[in-house]
Amino acid sequence: MQRIVVFTGAGISAESGIRTFRDSGGLWEQYDIREVATPEAFESNPELVISFYNSRRKQVLDAQPNEAHKALARLEDKFSVQVITQNIDDLHERAGSTHVMHLHGEIRKVRSTRFPELVYLINGWEQKKEDLCEKGFPLRPHIVWFGEMVPYMDLAIEHISSADLLMIIGTSLEVWPSAGLIHYASDEIPKFYIDPKAHPVNKIPDLKLISQPAGIAVPELVDQLLQN
Ligand code: NAD
Repeated sequence: MQRIVVFTGAGISAESGIRTFRDSGGLWEQYDIREVATPEAFESNPELVISFYNSRRKQVLDAQPNEAHKALARLEDKFSVQVITQNIDDLHERAGSTHVMHLHGEIRKVRSTRFPELVYLINGWEQKKEDLCEKGFPLRPHIVWFGEMVPYMDLAIEHISSADLLMIIGTSLEVWPSAGLIHYASDEIPKFYIDPKAHPVNKIPDLKLISQPAGIAVPELVDQLLQN
């Protein structure tokens, strides 16, 4: 079975109403990243950080998967599909994708500040500051903050290097080290980059740029792949 790797970013969830990172009107324009998305921020002002992620979680719970997420789930009818996402929302899973790797964490989860292997799915939107892990330590959002190690990089490299086709969707390719992953794809395989601001990428010569919103272009590409 042919292996398709799909590398997604905030843009795939834009049409579900979740704001992207850098676009004008993007989420982060309103916040100073250092005040909400770093380990130092959590240490100095946990209330602010927890309340920032509580509102993000509320927004994600209110959002629904869009046509792009749903089309990717349909790809599994014919292909072995691995989604590697930079997104912290769970819209790929809710659309039906069964192999989803979250490079930057998962907003619906929290984990122990002392025992990182103790990870919990939150019921609802709210992490309360006084909630503790089963060993009595405070909880933090299960998010990879700026300055923290990105987990699963080795596994992601394995998936991308053995892919037969690569789709890159809704990402500015500006957040490293994740953005560097696409360079591990073989030169021989077809590669598509779907994003209204899709741009050529150095050292990836045959990248096919599709400068359209994901909700339009992804279902079209998926239909073509399923028909061939
Ligand atoms: P980014 O904000 O840097 O780039 C977003 C990209 O999406 C841009 O290139 C933009 O042109 C594109 N885009 C906008 N609307 C689109 C649409 N309808 N269809 C397709 N593409 C569209 O996002 P990034 O590259 O993912 O990096 C940002 C970081 O912010 C990631 O690490 C991610 O964890 C985090 N983030 C996640 C979410 C989420 O989970 N939904 C939302 C915001 C930020």
